[in-house]
Amino acid sequence: MSLTLATLVNDQFRLTPPQRDALKRLNIKTIEDLFYHFPIRYGDTAEARTISSLQKGDTTVIFGKINGLKTSKGFHSKIAMAEGYVEDETGRIQCVWFNQPYVAKMFSDGMLVRIEGKVSGRQKKPINPVPIHEVAINVATRLYFSNPKIETVNKLPIGVGDSLFGSEGEDHTLYPVYPESRGISSAWIYHTIQKLFKQGVLESFIEPIPENILTKYHLPSIKTALIWIHSPKKREDALSARKRFSFEEIFIIQLGKQQARREYEKYPSFKIETSDAHVHEFIRRFPFKATSAQIRAVETILEDMRQNHAMSRLLEGDVGSGKTAVAAATAYSVMTSRPNIVNSDGKPVPGSDGHRIGNLQIAYMCPTEILAIQHFESFIQFFSYMPVQIGLITGSGCRKFPSKINPKGWTDISRAQLLTWVKNGEITVLIGTHAIIQKSVIFKNLAYAIIDEQHRFGTTQRGALVRKNAIGGQTAPHLLSMTATPIPRTLALTMYGDLDLTLLDEIPAGRKPIITELVLPDRRPEIYEKLRSELQAGRQVYIICPRIDEPDPDKEAAMIAKSVKEEAKRLKRSIFPEYEIGVLHSKMKPAEKDSIMTQFKSGKIHILCATSVVEVGVNVPNATSIIIEGAERFGLSQLHQLRGRVMRSTHQAYCYAFTETTSAKSNDRLKALQNAKNGFELAEIDLAARGAGELSGAKQWGVSDVAMEALQNLKMVEAARTEACDIIAIDPELTQYTELKREVDVRIRTVHFE
Ligand code: ADP
Ligand code: MG
Repeated sequence: MSLTLATLVNDQFRLTPPQRDALKRLNIKTIEDLFYHFPIRYGDTAEARTISSLQKGDTTVIFGKINGLKTSKGFHSKIAMAEGYVEDETGRIQCVWFNQPYVAKMFSDGMLVRIEGKVSGRQKKPINPVPIHEVAINVATRLYFSNPKIETVNKLPIGVGDSLFGSEGEDHTLYPVYPESRGISSAWIYHTIQKLFKQGVLESFIEPIPENILTKYHLPSIKTALIWIHSPKKREDALSARKRFSFEEIFIIQLGKQQARREYEKYPSFKIETSDAHVHEFIRRFPFKATSAQIRAVETILEDMRQNHAMSRLLEGDVGSGKTAVAAATAYSVMTSRPNIVNSDGKPVPGSDGHRIGNLQIAYMCPTEILAIQHFESFIQFFSYMPVQIGLITGSGCRKFPSKINPKGWTDISRAQLLTWVKNGEITVLIGTHAIIQKSVIFKNLAYAIIDEQHRFGTTQRGALVRKNAIGGQTAPHLLSMTATPIPRTLALTMYGDLDLTLLDEIPAGRKPIITELVLPDRRPEIYEKLRSELQAGRQVYIICPRIDEPDPDKEAAMIAKSVKEEAKRLKRSIFPEYEIGVLHSKMKPAEKDSIMTQFKSGKIHILCATSVVEVGVNVPNATSIIIEGAERFGLSQLHQLRGRVMRSTHQAYCYAFTETTSAKSNDRLKALQNAKNGFELAEIDLAARGAGELSGAKQWGVSDVAMEALQNLKMVEAARTEACDIIAIDPELTQYTELKREVDVRIRTVHFE
């Protein structure tokens, strides 16, 4: 069988079962995948020292051969550990990994390794008995590395000794370090790729990026870039190759997004031609004065709905900016109009005039039951003066407003009954959790789909929501996605490339900037007293318990639940005996959660002790203080979301981020929380703070580390988007770009991100 890019690594090389498993974990199937498995960084042999030159306290890198690997228990401490020693031409040194016995299993004797860490010295007694003569040499201090970073290398820097790296010739001093997995070392990957280079595999790579684009942005061709990334002679070459691959990935994502958008716009849609004046009558009824950002957003959305194709828009508004009101006002326009269904050329679909269609419907999907209920209640407030029926569907039951018996209130109804009314069009607005996208939910004519906290949903779920229409075959509803997690502009442009973006960048008038304080343990009593005076003034308080990291999500939830209950007990017993304290965590039944939220909203519960389940969207304006315990364990944007719970009224709001740690990094992050003007700024700081190698966001967004790097670069992202839009406008099916088309298809098939 001849060797191609599609050849499976399994078929090409004889692999042991652990190697196969490792490749699977690294997501490497084919030869092509292997070439796209990029180094995380490049080591430079020039940075290394010889073992004999090491002194206690040095932080340094050595290269050598590892031997004597074994697991053991600390002599006194009984801590499980791994140990071994590393040898170069000048000497040897012990390495110890406390609490990481597996290190002894990941590496084997005789491997060439790079060790990086701090050289420790131990007085008198060695860690484990060693031959007397060795101790004698180094009686005063015996040097060792404690928990150093270890990775395998393909070769040792030549000429160990003083002339160590003065060599010339074909040996370059940069060597790639690849992400490893137990069974597959960086060195193995290096050798395998070099072997494949020698076999001429490079010739099989076809350039997907059009040549004019490469030239325009000074990007190396695919072949050059592959050589540069896997065996660079200079750092600049490696960088330029990385830049090319990050551009490529973002460009391909963009092409996919632009295609999806065009695809959606081909469907017939509801052309809604209500006037701005009409919607302003509704807005005037708000119990507050709409912000100009809200009005702008509403008008933009109505303008979209007047087009000959369905809207796809993302409304990005900081917590508390009032997105619900925008959703309600635009929903009002939809429910009060009886439009024609038009094709993308603007001509009405035969037999689809508004009066025959009847009431248009609106679907509103939320990520949690608490939120769905909250929106159901606020929609009742917004629309109770109109003859509009509103439904609620969640995993634990269905409701309808108005109730026959009590026209001012809602009633529980059966799922079957609700679904019948949704299908025949009697229910105008259906609000729900994921339950809303179940197959059995069918709308008569869904004209408007709203997704709240949309980052909690995947593309598939979004797709399911917009395909709920019975009439007109496949009429596309207008889509409004809302998010309160401000994401950096580059990320929004990429991940939501198929949506237009509206920012709600204004906080309702009269709100005072929140006061955020970082609190170390010694100030606890003082903060509790501050809370007490807020409580005495009639305000309410959230206390958020820390996250607990535990691989098993079920166990984790149980542990957090326990800590929430205990914290509530402690507070009741020794801090706030005079106040009612409620408990909220994800292990509770939906009905219990609902009852707690109702009591908190009505003020019966004064302090809500909760997990981060309150994170998204929950709106209790009278709650103005929040304590976040273990703040260092939350991500910045999650902290901002949590803090958003108390930025919802004209009262002064306080956020106390309790932290135990004094580590500089963690402190910097928390300081950013304190100083950032708004969520957008915070998101940018968050992105910038992620150094290479710890781009934790990459996984969440389904992009590679390389693409994540590109997201630090607005110009590159904008370029990729512009080029993709231009190509799709002329050649939507990419018929002129075979290789690009293939890559876009592969990407869409394999990755479901968001
Ligand atoms: P989010 O954008 O986080 O979803 P909400 O829609 O829940 O925010 O609104 C937060 C709070 O602000 C609600 O209590 C809402 O009634 C109120 N609100 C919304 N718009 C305004 C406004 N223009 N002026 C004053 N309060 C407003
Ligand atoms: Mg909201």
